[in-house]
Amino acid sequence: MNPYIIVILAFILFSFFLNLVVERINLTCIQTSLPEEFKNCYDAEKYKKAQMYLRETTSFSLLTDTLTTTVTIIFILLGGFNLLDTAARSCGLGSILTGLLYIGLLLAASGILSLPFSAYATFVIEAKYGFNTTTVKTFCGDIIKICLLSALLGGPLLCLVLWFFEQTGEAAWLYCWGALCAFQVFLLFAAPVIIMPLFNKFTPMPDGALKNTISSYAQSQKFKMKGVFTMDGSKRSSKSNAFFSGIGRFRRVVLFDTLIAKHSLPELLTIVAHEIGHYKKGHILKHLCMSLAVSGLMFFILSVFLENPHLFAAFKMEHISIYASLVFFGFLYAPLDMLLSIVGNALSRRNEYEADRFAADTTDTPDAMINALKKLSIDNLSNLTPHPLKVVMSYSHPPVLARIQALRQHTSAHTACRPTDTV
Ligand SMILES: [Zn+2]
Repeated sequence: MNPYIIVILAFILFSFFLNLVVERINLTCIQTSLPEEFKNCYDAEKYKKAQMYLRETTSFSLLTDTLTTTVTIIFILLGGFNLLDTAARSCGLGSILTGLLYIGLLLAASGILSLPFSAYATFVIEAKYGFNTTTVKTFCGDIIKICLLSALLGGPLLCLVLWFFEQTGEAAWLYCWGALCAFQVFLLFAAPVIIMPLFNKFTPMPDGALKNTISSYAQSQKFKMKGVFTMDGSKRSSKSNAFFSGIGRFRRVVLFDTLIAKHSLPELLTIVAHEIGHYKKGHILKHLCMSLAVSGLMFFILSVFLENPHLFAAFKMEHISIYASLVFFGFLYAPLDMLLSIVGNALSRRNEYEADRFAADTTDTPDAMINALKKLSIDNLSNLTPHPLKVVMSYSHPPVLARIQALRQHTSAHTACRPTDTV
């Protein structure tokens, strides 16, 4: 048997079973009694609901994972990639357009496969727990917009990558990397002004106490930004969030309308301060540099395996092509991708602690920060006690109890170190 197919199938099965084990272990960590921190602010019924939500979303994601893994393996073993290639080639287009059609068809097939799952998750599970506010019209509109955006933005980028690999020889991976870097930087500017308004309405925050407090805090931190906006997050879900978008002086702070409705002014300020902390501590820039470095590494490894005949034999392909190399490389790259995502999540969790400390120090209201974290966890029915292995594998943010504990420790150390008042 072809060694490439053995490695690829073995890793697909390994990651499937690893995920299964992690999710099962995670469910065993469910505690029926409320953690001490939440005893005064979480009612028992709602906590029970959060646990049911965790069980239901876990079971559903395992079911989705089982079906997609099975379909992928069957598709590989039955030579589906070759059948699709034969169909794409029969259109008689040039190599780049054939590649675009081939990858477009694969993406369309995987999108169609995941559509019923996404609809069930939104209209059945999220609705059952009172989160869903998406209408069928918004749901369908989102799908159409995502397809159009992928074609308009991803299509030309893919053509460029295929053209570089066809025309520029050994240095092609460097040109591709350059193109992707330029594209990522372009997205940083384009996302808040062109892309995100296609999905949500962004309204400048009206003058008032909240806007004044946020603006004067940003000024006190010498933090330049384009403005404070509210977003109609309630259009899709009652879950709440806040984020910054854009870069440099174009960055803007965005608060979900659902967040503003549920939090007090000091809590909202600590949430904004946390986001500003990410900029002030250089997390945004570090994250961008890391993701650019990873894409360089990815293009380099891809160039090594480009048009490898054994890899094509593994997928029962009759013709060797650059575009299919891109797809098959995705399977080979998956183990490294898993490792990089574990490292990336660990760094991200460290950054979250740092941004929390920044917010607590600069607003001098650690209690408001803790209250905001508690409210967010309760409202979003977050898992308060995930298993450490689950955290390592997939948490980009530390579990809420760990964040609260870190904040308490930081505040007590900070207070102890303060010089004694001389007045
Ligand atoms: Zn954060």
